[in-house]
Amino acid sequence: MAEIGSQISRDFYGEPVLFLGVLKGSAVFLADLVREVDLNATFDFIGVASYGKRDDAAWESTGEVRLTKDVDQSLEGKNIVLVEDILDTGLTLTYLRKVLLAHAPKSLKIAVLLDKPSRRKLPVAADYVGFTIADEFVVGYGLDYAEQYRNLRDVCVLEGH
Ligand code: 5GP
Repeated sequence: MAEIGSQISRDFYGEPVLFLGVLKGSAVFLADLVREVDLNATFDFIGVASYGKRDDAAWESTGEVRLTKDVDQSLEGKNIVLVEDILDTGLTLTYLRKVLLAHAPKSLKIAVLLDKPSRRKLPVAADYVGFTIADEFVVGYGLDYAEQYRNLRDVCVLEGH
């Protein structure tokens, strides 16, 4: 975390940055990350939902994502760091990148706590990655399984998923 924080501080030296967390999974990561950043920083949240179950056939083919909570402010001309818990298939971040770029920010970077490159369906890469992990289902540190486990102190593998 300290490493990503100082990297972001170097990259945006002297510039204000808006950290935009994707609800709800990124809340704990964002809280820790912004405290490691030595910048003029603000934060806000955006909400998304995906249709269908992640692993059924419909999801695989459509992978539809929609916005459930928009930001509370204009993004035009701002430096944005989009903060997401996991980069998995890439559907969510591909969608969000498109939506946010339409608001004409000055810059848009992506920070993820975890990256599962083996699961990627769309070619999206994060600018800042906490850890790269294998194809395992993880919970804790903000991440849930049916809304449970978000408050676990650390990221844990949920066996049997
Ligand atoms: P993508 O659109 O990249 O496939 O999915 C990203 C989202 O899927 C993440 O924000 C997260 O909500 C969910 N996700 C993907 N893998 C995991 C996992 O291992 N554990 C949990 N709790 N959520 C996951």
